[in-house]
This record gives sequence, structure tokens and C-alpha cells, in this order.
Amino acid sequence: MNTVACRRHPDTPGPAVATPPFRSDLGERICREICARCWQDWLQHQTLLINHFGLDPRKREAREFLYAQVKAVLFGEGEPAAIDTSLQGTIGAGGTTDGQNRTAGGRGGTTEPGTDSAAS
Ligand SMILES: [Zn+2]
Repeated sequence: MNTVACRRHPDTPGPAVATPPFRSDLGERICREICARCWQDWLQHQTLLINHFGLDPRKREAREFLYAQVKAVLFGEGEPAAIDTSLQGTIGAGGTTDGQNRTAGGRGGTTEPGTDSAAS
């Protein structure tokens, strides 16, 4: 198994991520610079973010948010989003205040606050 000098602990190489998780420069960069263990950590964190912010990964803005978070969390480039309940549903969600009772996939995305503010 290949090892990689992981960005998060360069002194102790870890197992490399087997295949790029994204078909992009970012995906290849993860293979080169992030170990499989830290990638698994990220996947757990990503699930937390998706649930917390009510993200729909099929939507472009949700994916871009997650790519930015990959860079922030794994590469230290940018601001990691805080898991802060006061921010519940502020990104791409329909303003649901209760994060406990909903499950992924059940929401139709009828309103998308934030999409109109981006265009000016
Ligand atoms: Zn690592």
C-alpha cells in the first residue's frame, strides 16, 4: 500500500487514499497530500455538515460548499464552518429549525434562500 506524507501529520506517513474521491484537481490533491485515515475523518465530518446544514449534495452550491470545506479542514485553506446550532439551515436549506426530525432525501428543495442574493 502506498503511503503519503499527510498534510495533517507530515512526520508520520499514513496510508494513501486509493482513488481520487473527486474527478478534479482537488481529488488528485487529496490522493497526494491526505492519508486515508484523515479522509475517513473528513467523510464523517462531511456527514455532520450535510446533516447540520441540510445540504443537498445534488445541488451545485452544496457541493461547492463541501469542496471549500475540504480545503479548509484538510488543507487549512479558508474558514472551516462551525457546527453551530444558531446557523442551522442557513446554507441551501429551507429554513427548518429542527435538525432531529428530518432525514436526507425527503426534502424537495422548494425554496433556496441565498440563490437570489448571489446574482446581482
Ligand atoms: Zn492523515
